[in-house]
Amino acid sequence: MRITDNIAWDDRLEEFKGRDTAHYVRTAVSNERACADCGQPFTAGDELSLLVLAQQGDDAANGFTNYQSSVCHRACQPPNFQVQTVPGLAMPTEYDSYGARTILKNFTAFGERLVPTMFFSVLTNVTVRAPGGERTSAYISAYLHDGFQLSLTPDLTDIINHAGPVKDTFRCVITPDDIVALDSGEHRIYTLQLDRKDPHDAQWLDLAATNGTILAVLGENFAYTSTSVELDAAAELGTLVIGTVKVRHDS
Ligand SMILES: [Zn+2]
Repeated sequence: MRITDNIAWDDRLEEFKGRDTAHYVRTAVSNERACADCGQPFTAGDELSLLVLAQQGDDAANGFTNYQSSVCHRACQPPNFQVQTVPGLAMPTEYDSYGARTILKNFTAFGERLVPTMFFSVLTNVTVRAPGGERTSAYISAYLHDGFQLSLTPDLTDIINHAGPVKDTFRCVITPDDIVALDSGEHRIYTLQLDRKDPHDAQWLDLAATNGTILAVLGENFAYTSTSVELDAAAELGTLVIGTVKVRHDS
């Protein structure tokens, strides 16, 4: 048993999650509010256990691993890690995710430039075995395939300046009802309903229409606060990708 902050977890998890295990543990717990065993809400300082189920397809050498976690009071359940083989397991198409729209300011020699930006991160954890044997995020691999670029810095000015266009297979679609969607191929990965009566939403929609592109900042291990997105861990763990995405207005 290992302990990160006040969370106990099973040693065997590290064999699967590698260098980001401690961060995975914190992230998995930060999204939970109540004990999966007794149902009582957590309070600050509670001693907790992380229980993880890793599901693999029968072709484990090349396949992906899907992680499901739950959190309990340590008095209710000890930490646990289980590996399950599921014949014919396919990449999940539903997952927990979180996104946010914002407008970033970029100061250039020509003055201030406003950049409509979408942050999007997947909370569900799926890894694939990369060439060389290291496990890597299945979603990051997919974004790189769409032409996103890996960012090793969390600095938003650097991100604005270095983000290049992604492939046309990835699009930002805006509907007449002001729903903003991110599409990868045929797959809609995220939707966010904006409200024109909110002046920030209205400005975002206007900028997206005028610019014809948005900045997309995607990844895993993002930490959202009420006012900003913390990208340090994502940059450090290689789970931060960036790109400029064309906007298409659906009629
Ligand atoms: Zn409990």
